[in-house]
Amino acid sequence: MHQYKVFVTRQLPASLAPLEQIAEVEVWTEPQPPPHTLLMEQAIASDGLLCLLTDPIDSAMLSSATDLKVVSQMAVGYDNIDIETATHLGIPVGHTPGVLTNATADLTWALLMAAARRVVEGDRFTRSGQWNTWDPAGLLGLDLVGATLGIVGLGRIGTAVARRALGFDMHILYTSPNPKSPELEQELKARRVKLEELLAESDVVAVHTPLSPSTYHLFGDRQFQQMKSSAIFINTARGSIVDPAALHRALSTGAIAAAAIDVTDPEPIEVTNPLLTLKNLIITPHIGSASHATRKKMAQMAIANVIAGLKGERLPHCVNPDVYRQSVREER
Ligand code: NAP
Repeated sequence: MHQYKVFVTRQLPASLAPLEQIAEVEVWTEPQPPPHTLLMEQAIASDGLLCLLTDPIDSAMLSSATDLKVVSQMAVGYDNIDIETATHLGIPVGHTPGVLTNATADLTWALLMAAARRVVEGDRFTRSGQWNTWDPAGLLGLDLVGATLGIVGLGRIGTAVARRALGFDMHILYTSPNPKSPELEQELKARRVKLEELLAESDVVAVHTPLSPSTYHLFGDRQFQQMKSSAIFINTARGSIVDPAALHRALSTGAIAAAAIDVTDPEPIEVTNPLLTLKNLIITPHIGSASHATRKKMAQMAIANVIAGLKGERLPHCVNPDVYRQSVREER
């Protein structure tokens, strides 16, 4: 009988053996996320929670789970977790930054190139028997070499996306609350501008910010209207950064040329959603980090975070390090 109990909200692509050495581990083995009431019961009965972005970890749950010593999320984004409450209660929250940066940047580029050269449209065109001849004006797209790439949020993934753009001699503009170092700007040949300028100047706009109150619906009608009508919009960050009705209007009225998104609001997107009728939109089902090696590293990192949290050690990758400065922690 172990001292600790941990609930893991899905089967993971990594061994749980290191965790099982110190804790009794229960894994939710269904393909769908655990229902909220069950998750609540498990959180209350557990010392550690290893969760995914599909699990809402809200204030009521955290407040009721008086034995909970750590929440460890297998993702870099943590907008499904009430961080303020967790911090207030002295519960460290772990995440998995860095290990998924390249995989997500690669997927961003896969979408970018597919949209620029109309790969998905071309595939549908071919399969539906419309390919009758070589057409000098058929399925024309955008040349990326020499084009301007606007990166909204030049963090880990935004930077990796910009590095890949150097191979295409693209001009890089970016927005970020904090300026990046002159060395990084020089390496990327990147210039920090206001969002309005980025939208007006860019041939491709790629979003790489976290979802937060300041980025919720950052993209609405006004932002799409500020973009070039030939522009391509890419979102591999979080769906709610974009107003989906505004995206639909922008694509259907020709305010922008095309979009490619890996994330939607809500997720999963309903098959009846009008966005899915648009030819100039590519959608993938939130697979930014979905490579074999990356998902394994993410799971290992999440396991390491939960183990550290149970032992009362500092999490290797902690979202809310303020917990280590709070007296409330000692009071628990
Ligand atoms: P990160 O290193 O923290 O980078 C985020 C960047 O966004 C930071 O540079 C930050 O600027 C900037 N930012 C914050 N608020 C902004 C705003 N209002 N306007 C412009 N920029 C803003 O995070 P990351 O590792 O690159 O990950 C970014 C996000 O990608 C995650 O939060 C997650 O939601 C998403 N993601 C999705 C997938 C997927 O499967 N599709 C996979 C991984 C990650 P400062 O540096 O100035 O603070």
